[in-house]
Amino acid sequence: MPKRSLRTIPLIILIIALCARLPIACAKEPPLKIVFFDVGQGDSAAIYFPNGEALLVDAGAGKTDIVRKLRETGAPQSISILMTHPHSDHIGGMLPVVKEFNIIHAYDTGYPYSRIYENILNRLLAVNVQYSVVRSGQKFNFGEAQITILHPDEGFEPHDINDSSVVFMLRYRDFTALFTGDVEKVSEARMVKKWGKLLDADILKVGHHGSRYSSSRDFLSVVRPQFAVISLAIDNSYGYPHKQALAALEDSGAEIYRTDWHGDITVISDGRHIEISATER
Ligand SMILES: [Zn+2]
Repeated sequence: MPKRSLRTIPLIILIIALCARLPIACAKEPPLKIVFFDVGQGDSAAIYFPNGEALLVDAGAGKTDIVRKLRETGAPQSISILMTHPHSDHIGGMLPVVKEFNIIHAYDTGYPYSRIYENILNRLLAVNVQYSVVRSGQKFNFGEAQITILHPDEGFEPHDINDSSVVFMLRYRDFTALFTGDVEKVSEARMVKKWGKLLDADILKVGHHGSRYSSSRDFLSVVRPQFAVISLAIDNSYGYPHKQALAALEDSGAEIYRTDWHGDITVISDGRHIEISATER
């Protein structure tokens, strides 16, 4: 055997050993990445797909610079956006994003509510963005990854804006993440009935900032999350997370991450393995 081959053997063994420990880093394709931004009291997450596309889901209340956070986490200049519902803690920070980035496609429920929502919508329509009102059953592909809308149903009459939130499943190969906006227990029950085991997810973006009006035990028993992410401000005036929701999440066996404790929370996956990290501990 030539000398050089002998020298390369330990290196190959080292690489194999490293890749066994860090499979995502060794994958040929870039991983799927989700960053749950710490926006204080509100919700905002960016999904970076392996094919280079990006989707911003909500944009916080406007107190956090989402444009900067997007740029720092690798957003391309052209992105798509999804607004789960038109409350200010979810879309208050969307207007600067719409102004600074080229928006490819915008998704929301189309339920009118607030001046801020109308301002965003007018801006989007003025620049001819592709705009879709979403309803359950619709699917959108981002390369190999897919988003399936699970709520609201066609003809759904929301008793409350929170409960009108877009709920969707993100799937990339075997990896799944369920985004729930601020949907409440009544719609969780509806989804359990309609979707059953299809709600099973590796990652759960916990509904309504850990409020007791969401995270029912029946819902969590079908979602069976490995990781649950709660987006909320420290010492918020609502008392989130409520202890009933927290107990239900703990009993579900999920490992809980909170933006008030952990800062920005990043999840990466090659479609099989999952790594989760946070800016603060
Ligand atoms: Zn909210």
